[in-house]
Amino acid sequence: MHCPFCRHDDTKVSDSRVADDGTAIRRRRLCPACERKFTTVEQVVLTVVKRSGVVEPFSREKVISGVRKACQGRPVSEAQLAALGQQVEDQLRASGKAEIASDQVGIAILGPLASLDSIAYLRFASVYKNYESVDDFITEIKAMRRNADSFDVAVPATPEPRKAAVGSAQQPLISTP
Ligand SMILES: [Zn+2]
Repeated sequence: MHCPFCRHDDTKVSDSRVADDGTAIRRRRLCPACERKFTTVEQVVLTVVKRSGVVEPFSREKVISGVRKACQGRPVSEAQLAALGQQVEDQLRASGKAEIASDQVGIAILGPLASLDSIAYLRFASVYKNYESVDDFITEIKAMRRNADSFDVAVPATPEPRKAAVGSAQQPLISTP
């Protein structure tokens, strides 16, 4: 792996440790040319399988832009959206699966969005859950009221995960030397 500081084409690993509950490996690396240190994280590349069968890499930015639309005009900051994106990705990674159905991504968004903004949640859920009538909204709102104290969104049962091939990627995570 290239040194992110001087582009030297070889670096030495000085330390490896399991991180994030075993879903990632962090490696401390040293560049023999410029002697600076940096950290890489190796983790499974999450892929999303759409209903059409098309497979694409998971994108936190896509999650955020979808939620941003539902949050239009609502008092939700970019920082809150970024935190939600992180929460969704963490939740999906914690499942330990490499391949995720796009529906699962939607489900992972519902919980954090409900605690962020109830109107944005209803907007998002109306599209995601395919509401067809006002009754669907009323049912959802009733469920929200029931759970108002310890808000916990009712989500459909998750289908049995498919066994998936595990790919990996190394991303440089530049830290202070
Ligand atoms: Zn270097």
